[in-house]
Amino acid sequence: MSELRLQQAFTEAWLPRVPEVRAQLGVSVEIPAEGRVVVSACLAGVACTHEAEAKTREWAVKLVAEGRAVLVCPEVAGGLPIPRPAAEIVGGDGADVLGGRAKVISETGDDVTQSYLTGARTAADAARAAGAQLAILKARSPSCGCGAIHSGAFDGEMREGDGVTAALLKEEGLEVASDETVE
Ligand code: SF4
Repeated sequence: MSELRLQQAFTEAWLPRVPEVRAQLGVSVEIPAEGRVVVSACLAGVACTHEAEAKTREWAVKLVAEGRAVLVCPEVAGGLPIPRPAAEIVGGDGADVLGGRAKVISETGDDVTQSYLTGARTAADAARAAGAQLAILKARSPSCGCGAIHSGAFDGEMREGDGVTAALLKEEGLEVASDETVE
């Protein structure tokens, strides 16, 4: 193989492994063949969304069957009920909530920031205990959203940013992906 071809092969193999680059390129995430993976519980069939629904995905159920899923529902872990009012991050994104610069407010006007922080820490503890390096989380949630979340104005618009748990897991060094990028 020529030096140029070797370099191309290396680049092609390496680029998709860098989360930021992969996100920019819109490259999908591949579920690794082994190891524990943090997964939003609603993706594995648990009816824990704010509307008491599951958002079941086949790959998540398979990870559970293989004993490799670390299921987390940060909002329930933070003490919120099922069902519960929808909530959005107001004044920033998940990283801003972690830094005390933004709050999570429910559509009924309650400040639920502390519940979201508690849930995020619970998920991070579970990830650490399991030795997980990858988390695949439900898109657009103020907890689990990765890369895009609701605007904070309850107007159906989206903004760039992560949910609180996604942001904390990233800070903890995990690769975090949205369920919508799973192949
Ligand atoms: S907090 Fe995450 S796991 Fe729980 S229902 Fe919302 S998206 Fe699903």
